Amino acid sequence: SMASPALLMRVVASAYSVAEKAATIVRNVMSAGDLGIVEKAGPNDLQTKADRLVQMSICASLARKFPKVTIIGEEELPTEDVTEDLIEDGHCEEILKKPCPAQYTGIKEEELVIWVDPLDGTKEYTEGLLDHVTVLIGIAYGGKAIAGVINQPYYNYEAGANAVLGRTIWGVLGMGAFGFQLTEAPAGKHIVVTTRSHSNALVNECITALNPDHVIRVGGAGNKVIQLIEGKASAYVFASPGCKKWDTCAPEAILHAVGGKITDIRGNSFQYNKEVKHMNSAGVLATLRNYDYYANRIPSTVKESLVP
Ligand code: AMP
Ligand code: MG
Ligand code: MG
Repeated sequence: SMASPALLMRVVASAYSVAEKAATIVRNVMSAGDLGIVEKAGPNDLQTKADRLVQMSICASLARKFPKVTIIGEEELPTEDVTEDLIEDGHCEEILKKPCPAQYTGIKEEELVIWVDPLDGTKEYTEGLLDHVTVLIGIAYGGKAIAGVINQPYYNYEAGANAVLGRTIWGVLGMGAFGFQLTEAPAGKHIVVTTRSHSNALVNECITALNPDHVIRVGGAGNKVIQLIEGKASAYVFASPGCKKWDTCAPEAILHAVGGKITDIRGNSFQYNKEVKHMNSAGVLATLRNYDYYANRIPSTVKESLVP
């Protein structure tokens, strides 16, 4: 008989289903029409009812199945009882059938850290830019992002009533990433994707120094990494604090699983152990290909302005 699947594959398979449930909640809150917006640090740092319900759903669902895993979610919520309708106990059978990469077969629950962004791109969600929104579940081991799930609840929403709404992208280091078509950005063109709602002078100075052919401004760290792996942009450049570990963990695992690279603006890799500081203080630089081209052109004045 088959040995039971490795813990990592069971976690990813569950995270897949939990992220699909999350997407349903994101769509239901929007169609119900009451977003329940709360300002956190200020008007550009929002939380909606969807952020709250989805975080409760993801964290409680995963904690019930994997009680010894450390789960860190973006939202600070009162520790109320989570209602049973928020719990997802399913998993993706197809993921469970895949063999776990050998280096991860011995992982124990206590060794995993799951970083949860229940709704990435909240500002855009509140403004109706629905395809910017993603649900991010990143899985870290030994301080490294090794697996991730990105659900895009409104993928295809402008494609008409017959299109299937929403999709789930997932990946594991050493295995690859699935649920999308890996596409190279146009050869010889420098297309930078960056923040839409969190720009500042340094963010813009950095982009100008790269002299790109085109700049795409969209919300969400998950959405911007999707732009990289689908060939819409050649580099994600954000020379500012603001982005946190739950924003980068799942996108990093998926990007690295297909041979890309993500670091801070100074070239330092991100750490995802449970004790790490949440803020990515030195910004984000990510590419699917040609990382060095962009890294070599970040001005040293920009690097020096950002302290990790
Ligand atoms: P953006 O590219 O602006 O969508 O940002 C990517 C992620 O980082 C989102 O989760 C944002 O909420 C977060 N973020 C970036 N800059 C800031 C900021 N100045 N304040 C709060 N959150 C930010
Ligand atoms: Mg986010
Ligand atoms: Mg969020």
